[in-house]
Amino acid sequence: MPELLVIGGGALGSAVAAHLAGDKRWRIRVIERDASYARASSALSAASIRQQFSTPLNIALSQLGLAFLRGMGERAGLHEGGYLYLAREPQRLTELHELQTRCGADIELLMPAQLAERWPWLATQDLALGAFGRSGEGWFDGWALLMELRRIALAGGAEYQQLEALELMRDGSGALDGVLTTTGVLQADLYVLACGAWSGSLAATAGLDVPVVASRRSVYQFRSPQAAAQCPLVIDPSGLWFRPEGEGFLCGGEPLDDRPGLPLDPEPDLFEQQLWPALAARVPGFESLRMERAWAGYYEMNSFDHNGLVGALDECPNLLLACGFSGHGLQHAPGVGRGLAEWISSGGYQTLDLSPLSPRRIAEQRPYRELNVI
Ligand SMILES: Cc1cc2nc3c(=O)[nH]c(=O)nc-3n(C[C@H](O)[C@H](O)[C@H](O)COP(=O)(O)OP(=O)(O)OC[C@H]3O[C@@H](n4cnc5c(N)ncnc54)[C@H](O)[C@@H]3O)c2cc1C
Repeated sequence: MPELLVIGGGALGSAVAAHLAGDKRWRIRVIERDASYARASSALSAASIRQQFSTPLNIALSQLGLAFLRGMGERAGLHEGGYLYLAREPQRLTELHELQTRCGADIELLMPAQLAERWPWLATQDLALGAFGRSGEGWFDGWALLMELRRIALAGGAEYQQLEALELMRDGSGALDGVLTTTGVLQADLYVLACGAWSGSLAATAGLDVPVVASRRSVYQFRSPQAAAQCPLVIDPSGLWFRPEGEGFLCGGEPLDDRPGLPLDPEPDLFEQQLWPALAARVPGFESLRMERAWAGYYEMNSFDHNGLVGALDECPNLLLACGFSGHGLQHAPGVGRGLAEWISSGGYQTLDLSPLSPRRIAEQRPYRELNVI
């Protein structure tokens, strides 16, 4: 029986295992160095889902993610509160709206007066346009999604082992010949690299250039005496985002310091210097908010074009990549897992063609750029 070894058991690795588990011709092993997922991005994300992307494939992957979350029922904690992109000049939102609508996304363009009418707590004087996802966008329980993917994989016969991959080993032809782990070498017929932010450094142990780096993002949770009724996930032109969470709100934004691999502590000055002033400018009642806690996780940033890397590497054809999603991988995990499982089972993509995400585009210098990276 051929064996698949998935390296990294976060949302992406588990999604591949979950979707392939139905194919009983394969033995599937997943090695994950930390079953508590303390540093995994899948456990530290803001767990939100949107259709407002700039590439048709990312929109379609979100639609598959949405269908998976809706299929989980209440356990997914899905709240379709919508994303609201705000802009000071209308052109980009208008262009993206055309593309998104063509791809079946339910996005409405709103003029400043309409924004003020719908969300009276929002300051709109500097805005030209907003784009609001009426359905199919919102936030969910990210941990529940990770656990559901893992549960399906385990129920289908995949084996999880708590093991760290130390080195990828290649033979003379360039193919992967084994993975050196803390307890010895593991061999398989096919391998999936799904180590999130650590994928680039692990690939480098085999001399493979996978341009994925650990880019720290901080999330801050706050409460405010100002109610913000029907608050969607707001993307401010300043780079700030915020959304409701329980009785309060979450927010984040572009880091001040974006050097790769910074320690996983929330960035000290970002909230006070940048986010709080931007929050108070957009929602005047947020001036007297109270920050309650903060955490940090890594975006698995693909420095080439800020999009996922999915599929075989030409120079190492039995190694499939599932990494580099640059901050939107949780919502895309179900669709990517399904696609890679189809490719492994049948030699091609069936549900959705993921070939635009092939790593071949790096060698060919053809970026498949996602403009809406938050
Ligand atoms: C603050 C923040 C907010 C985010 N918000 C969103 C959002 O709103 N929506 C969204 O869709 N995405 C969001 N993301 C991105 C999303 O979390 C990631 O794209 C996604 O979780 C990546 O999943 P993964 O399985 O590739 O990585 P991970 O979840 O990091 O999993 C990789 C796993 O590999 C394991 N591993 C690493 N190295 C080794 C090794 N050598 N041997 C064995 N195991 C190893 C790790 O322990 C880890 O469990 C956010 C991320 C962050 C940090």
